[in-house]
Amino acid sequence: MCLNDFEIGKILGKGKLGKVYCVKHKESGYVAAIKVMSKKDLIEFKLEKNFRREIEIQLKLRHDQISRLLGFFYDDKNVYLILEYALHGEIYHHLQLKRRFDNITASNYIYQVSNALSYLHLQNIIHRDIKPENILLAADKTIKLSDFGWSVQVNPSNLKRLTICGTLDYLPPEMVESKAHDFSVDNWALGVLCYEFLVGKPPFDDENNQLTYRRIAKVDLKIPVYVDDDAADLITKLLQRNPSKRLPLADLPSHPWIVKNKPYWPKVRSKN
Ligand code: ATP
Ligand code: MG
Repeated sequence: MCLNDFEIGKILGKGKLGKVYCVKHKESGYVAAIKVMSKKDLIEFKLEKNFRREIEIQLKLRHDQISRLLGFFYDDKNVYLILEYALHGEIYHHLQLKRRFDNITASNYIYQVSNALSYLHLQNIIHRDIKPENILLAADKTIKLSDFGWSVQVNPSNLKRLTICGTLDYLPPEMVESKAHDFSVDNWALGVLCYEFLVGKPPFDDENNQLTYRRIAKVDLKIPVYVDDDAADLITKLLQRNPSKRLPLADLPSHPWIVKNKPYWPKVRSKN
């Protein structure tokens, strides 16, 4: 596989380092996304290890709610990842257009992200960068979790990791306080995501990073009154300061907010 095998189409998105384009495989006609990372940037920002980990981890994953890494190759300048194409792009963009999601839409997305996270956690992988920019929407409103640049596979007998990573608004107290963290950082981020879906901005958003840090550390959570009581209950149960008190993902499907909205979700074909 090389760049010449593909017809390059429009740009789909830009990350801190990566540029992602829509591509068509010339021989098969298969449409995919290609993530291009310059080797020079990877070295300059000391991200070679992250990137190698991203590839190693994502190659192993097979799940309906996870953007599949189909292959990779490189030339003198760049490394290229061929990814399953998510037709509707970032959920972030849809949230901006709608400002807030209704309960049916939000609960459906949260349930799907939770499924993807359960699958990752079962394989001892922590995603560590859950946010609306990294959740993509495929053709039939199924979500595709993407961007494994910060994810890590941990050894269950030595669970605690210390690196600070991810996006400030989505960091849990233990990370802003530079303490050890484990799988439950993703449960926290799911709570932040649920709040952002229903309110339109993340819960600890403030004028500057310093204030946001402080609000996260105190779990200074104020849920607007218009948020459904059951949704507020789920958010509160995920945004627990004590990591071991956060709602386990296995309990999410039976949470009242999910149970009462589920009958209204669009029907999708699911292989999981
Ligand atoms: P970050 O700054 O979050 O670390 P990154 O450089 O790791 O970003 P990605 O988040 O993987 O890059 O991709 C950047 C953007 O490209 C995404 O936010 C999304 O808009 C788009 N994108 C990525 N993968 C796909 C895909 N499979 N299908 C459609 N669009 C995609
Ligand atoms: Mg990203």
